Amino acid sequence: MAHWARRLRQATSAAQRRARELRMISKALVSTDHPILAHIIPIRRCNLACTYCNEYDDYSKPVPTETMVQRLDHLADLGTTIITISGGEPLLHPELDRIITHIRKRRMIAGMITNGYLLTVDRIRRLNRAGLEHLQISIDNAMPDEVSKKSLKTLDKKLQLLAEHAEFHVNINSVVGGGIHNPHDALTVGKRAVALGFTSTVGIIHDGDGQLQPLGEAEREVYMAMRAMEKHSYAQINYFQDNIAHGVENKWRCRAGARYLYICEDGLVHYCSQQRGYPGKPLMEYTVEDIRREYRTVKECAPRCTVACVHQVAYLDFWRGPQDLAPTPATDGQPQGLVQLQ
Ligand code: SF4
Ligand code: SF4
Repeated sequence: MAHWARRLRQATSAAQRRARELRMISKALVSTDHPILAHIIPIRRCNLACTYCNEYDDYSKPVPTETMVQRLDHLADLGTTIITISGGEPLLHPELDRIITHIRKRRMIAGMITNGYLLTVDRIRRLNRAGLEHLQISIDNAMPDEVSKKSLKTLDKKLQLLAEHAEFHVNINSVVGGGIHNPHDALTVGKRAVALGFTSTVGIIHDGDGQLQPLGEAEREVYMAMRAMEKHSYAQINYFQDNIAHGVENKWRCRAGARYLYICEDGLVHYCSQQRGYPGKPLMEYTVEDIRREYRTVKECAPRCTVACVHQVAYLDFWRGPQDLAPTPATDGQPQGLVQLQ
């Protein structure tokens, strides 16, 4: 496709995305009875093995596509606005395009988080055709090391392919904390992302329980420089991380289980990737009553939480009602309480 034609298509897609996102915000402001964002896992397996990660294995099979379609239909019937496909590594699912197409067919916004390793020109074009709207790649360092192989050196060619061929929005997330050796790598990654025309965000890597670990001085400096760069990007709703960077707890109401759902490969609803088991109910049995209960449920892990997407969703309801219920798992046995770190 000619360069100008591709740019025109990218601009048109961006305008349509914005319109859909504005409709999403209006819908969320009118009612609290539907999820705003759901993460779904079509495959738990990953082709990498980052040492800080507790969200992958090296053996799981893909979830059958028909099962994924049923789950997406149920999420659509619950009124879910955005679906983010995550993993493991979602590009390992053999029918990923069909999953994306179905998300769009049910009029939900389609996003994906990938490590980018499996992207090719053909794969990107297929993602365009399927109707993907957002893609995020996290890049952890400039050079691969024993902590993470998601490095700018190994992924830069993939980023160039995306800049050339993707019609969807691309965000590059760089990270500080979690044992990443050189905090300044985050700045290098962010600058490269902006140079290629992508948005750039910075995340603070949670520990194995998704909880706050104070940043060191060098990490904090890099974090603040990245935040200044982020001002020009779409994902600016990361104010909670400023507190985390300074080791300060956040006062907020986590609406996981209601406005945000994490659907594991077994089709169970969890609060988030770090609090699996609560509420632990099959998605196919999840109703608006569950959403209403979890909306009111206090998550005692909230003050030290670093799970960015749940914070971002919660901003839409920050002015709304207090929470007065305790978490209970749907599975048998006594509640053990949510994971907590001191
Ligand atoms: S690429 Fe992503 S899912 Fe895979 S091990 Fe690394 S952080 Fe985990
Ligand atoms: S506060 Fe919410 S998003 Fe954060 S760890 Fe707890 S349940 Fe998960």
